[in-house]
Amino acid sequence: MTDTEVLVIGAGLSGLAAARALQASGVEVTVLEARSRVGGRTEGGATADGTPVELGGQWIGPTQTRMYALVEELGLETFPTFNTGEHVIQLGGSRSRMASHRGAVPKLNPFVLADLFQGMTRFKRLADRVPLDQPWAAPGARALDNQTFETWIVRTLRTRTARDYFRVATEAVFSAESGNLSALHALFYAHSGTDLEGLLSTDGGAQQDRIVGGSVLVSEAMAVGLGDRVLLDSPARRIEQHGHRVSVTTRGGEIFEADRVIVTLPPTLAGRLDYDPILPSWRDQLTQRLPAGSVIKLYAVYDEPFWRQEGLTGQAASDQGPIKVTFDNSPPSGRPGVLMGFMEANDGRAAARLPLADRRAAAVACFVRYFGPRAASPLEYIERDWMAEEFSRGCYGAHFTPGVWGDYGQALNQPVGLVHWAGAECSPVWNGYMEGAVRSGEQVADDVLSALS
Ligand SMILES: Cc1cc2nc3c(=O)[nH]c(=O)nc-3n(C[C@H](O)[C@H](O)[C@H](O)COP(=O)(O)OP(=O)(O)OC[C@H]3O[C@@H](n4cnc5c(N)ncnc54)[C@H](O)[C@@H]3O)c2cc1C
Repeated sequence: MTDTEVLVIGAGLSGLAAARALQASGVEVTVLEARSRVGGRTEGGATADGTPVELGGQWIGPTQTRMYALVEELGLETFPTFNTGEHVIQLGGSRSRMASHRGAVPKLNPFVLADLFQGMTRFKRLADRVPLDQPWAAPGARALDNQTFETWIVRTLRTRTARDYFRVATEAVFSAESGNLSALHALFYAHSGTDLEGLLSTDGGAQQDRIVGGSVLVSEAMAVGLGDRVLLDSPARRIEQHGHRVSVTTRGGEIFEADRVIVTLPPTLAGRLDYDPILPSWRDQLTQRLPAGSVIKLYAVYDEPFWRQEGLTGQAASDQGPIKVTFDNSPPSGRPGVLMGFMEANDGRAAARLPLADRRAAAVACFVRYFGPRAASPLEYIERDWMAEEFSRGCYGAHFTPGVWGDYGQALNQPVGLVHWAGAECSPVWNGYMEGAVRSGEQVADDVLSALS
């Protein structure tokens, strides 16, 4: 049996940020991580020539102040996402190019554009009024929460192409279909990350910058500071609260005792641990209602980024899958050329059932459709199916289904006895993002410090 003051479950950004903050305040902390690596939903990979690729979360952007500060504190650097030239837009059966600066307007027929504009304006007006620490208190919250975002889209947008634009945006932002989440959640989430336009933008938006060497370096550097307090290959299985102490048993049968436990797992996985006493109904039912999104992140590697010579950014948005969103993920040197694509929501779920060769062929066909025949012969294909990951079971994060903010939202961050909750899903600001994960970890460290004193 190992004794510690605070036990953190999960060595993703949130758990490591919490442990780091507690350690800095003189608290003895131990982190249990199920995987053989730290970083959770951020993960490093490499092409055959050793160029780092990011298999999970990667971008940071304006107002993500904690991530930029951490990058600097940990001696890391950022570089801008390649965004020079024009994006490829395929909507409503037509292919066009669009300027890459924030606020650029796709070349669509004027009726569609007017419709899109009124829809975006209405969305922003509603989103701005959602209080981030209590979304259920927004004006009209109940009605918004009781409808899917798809219902809102159909009621608000008049043209098919404008509706499809919102649907593609939903898949890109949530890895979920617009019918899978509540309209209130879509509004909260956009406001949490400033606004929808920011979530979709590169320069001046959520995709603005990348971390040299890969985002996983942030977690790895935090873990170095924690030294042997981070225990890998240690999946927690059971949490028992008894009196003023709490004990955690791993799958391997090791027992850890602590004054407090911080669970930083995605909500559904947190709900799959065994608890004694069992969790109160309001907490358990919350975790039953926060499904993870569905995403396969994939790469095609070329000797050079040939699309740049044609004035393209490597970014495409399309209403035809299975890849509907792409980015140029080449390293700062520009060699090799790396195209990244997401297969999301229904496309991701369908693709996950295909043999690898068929999925690769479908991915390459999408890159050819967007960037021409030179995309047909990548040197390499790399992918990560996050739905198949035992210790994530979907990504990028969880979404609130209809009615859940209103009926269960208040339970999200409420400790149960000596057990506290954290993670990207728990943050009012930049919910679902790396920034939210770090903020939530630092917040829960504060809460635990107050509880201990
Ligand atoms: C493909 C993809 C793209 C993304 N893109 C971006 C992006 O560009 N920008 C951005 O900001 N965010 C992005 N995200 C989201 C971002 O990566 C996450 O929000 C963030 O990393 C979550 O951190 P976390 O610490 O809250 O959770 P996690 O990283 O999930 O950490 C939880 C940890 O708990 C561990 N664990 C699970 N079960 C157990 C157990 N039983 N016992 C012990 N440990 C356990 C897990 O292994 C994991 O390490 C993306 C995510 C993915 C997957």
